[in-house]
Amino acid sequence: MPLQPNQVVSIYFTLKDEDGEIIDSTSEGKPFSFLSGQEQILPNLENEIGGMLIGSKRNVVLAPADAYGEYQEEAVQMVKRSEFPPNAVIEEGQSYFTKSPEGEQVPFMITQINGEDVTLDFNHPLAGETLTFDIELVNIRPATQEELDHGHAHGEGGHHHH
Ligand code: ZN
Repeated sequence: MPLQPNQVVSIYFTLKDEDGEIIDSTSEGKPFSFLSGQEQILPNLENEIGGMLIGSKRNVVLAPADAYGEYQEEAVQMVKRSEFPPNAVIEEGQSYFTKSPEGEQVPFMITQINGEDVTLDFNHPLAGETLTFDIELVNIRPATQEELDHGHAHGEGGHHHH
């Protein structure tokens, strides 16, 4: 069930990949807060949270298609080292950004450097993964005007953190 838009939703979560390895989690006593209805988290995860009661816990499993997409072989490209700026430091396993023709920032990872050949992977790092979220819904409250103006939540209590 979708959440009401423009709410500040605070959760504790632990995110695991399909091997059960923890990819991300909130630290003790510090919930993660987001604004609902603004695609700040995965839409399918937000829908699941919309069906939860405050204080309840839920285990949410999202298939790749419901999370960051299937892994696309076409999103892997080989380029020449000379296509990078001459002073660019390029390293295997590092993430970079390039600009799309529309001027959007497009992230990619360099997965292999083999002499002059550089392999770029434009898949999301979590593409192809079935993700498991352990969620505890801490609070839902209407966003303040300041939060709406800023486009982000200011934490559970609405305090300004930046
Ligand atoms: Zn702010």
